[in-house]
Amino acid sequence: MSMAIIVHGGAGTITSDRAEIVQAGCRDAALIGWRILENGGSALDAVEAAVRALEDNPNYNAGRGACLTADGRIELDAGIMNGEKLNVGAVACVEYIKNPISLARKVMESPHVLLVGRGAQEFAREQGIPQCSFGDLLTERQYKRWKEAQSAGVETEEEPRYHRREVNRGSPREERHGTVGAVAVDTSGVLAAATSTGGIFNQYPGRVGDTPLVGCGFYADENAAVSCTGEGEDFARLLMAKRTADFVASGVSARDAAEAAIALLGARTGGTGGLIVVDRPGNVGFAWNSENMAHAYMTEGLDEPISGV
Ligand code: ASP
Repeated sequence: MSMAIIVHGGAGTITSDRAEIVQAGCRDAALIGWRILENGGSALDAVEAAVRALEDNPNYNAGRGACLTADGRIELDAGIMNGEKLNVGAVACVEYIKNPISLARKVMESPHVLLVGRGAQEFAREQGIPQCSFGDLLTERQYKRWKEAQSAGVETEEEPRYHRREVNRGSPREERHGTVGAVAVDTSGVLAAATSTGGIFNQYPGRVGDTPLVGCGFYADENAAVSCTGEGEDFARLLMAKRTADFVASGVSARDAAEAAIALLGARTGGTGGLIVVDRPGNVGFAWNSENMAHAYMTEGLDEPISGV
């Protein structure tokens, strides 16, 4: 069986000064996952390790470097899935966790599928996952953006600032990308998907997008694995990840499935974003309708990862 891994570092507008940095992080993450696959490791271990690397990298909106909510907190979401047994685990709205994807994996290994907030926090403690501080997750860059948004926002009693749709959507030029994800297939032909995010910049406290929702922000089965990024409400409405896997199941190539799903996103909701796909034979696909999507992949025959924005 052919191995393959593809990772993304979020869809949106990536300014030229950051294009190389975010591609380099994706290449590093793809290689970390690839080494695991090469050594006979599982697709699940590969996607978890790749996403952990991206969560640890402060240049992405996941783990350290995640964006702030309207009330100045960092709330993290993540989901992971093993396509062989349809095992799935996710966490939403967790704080003070350095690597939410590993917490999601622990949920996957428990009887639960999704844990949120306080319960997820308690579960982390039980699993021996240490809490980090707010400062461990916060970067200067995200704090500055949040401060600027606070001073720019005008709040009225009838329309509290963070209820407005444009606050969640942001201006089109605003750099809102940075969610991370990875999908892989291992030598046994098992597929896995993982996605992790800080959500949408300046989002309403407690708001949860597609990322930790199985079938929306991530999905893996016996045919394909998918990880999404973009305006989460629209991805959730369309069950984007599952829909993309279903396109592959119907005989469409990974590439065409990615493109068809993104075309549908634009046509049905007007939403923007992107996604990555890998199929069981080891073909990768990716598509986006935002300005950019940072990504990198490794497949058999390549000496080093190919990346792009
Ligand atoms: N999909 C994520 C969310 O809605 C954000 C993103 O991918 O940029 O929370």
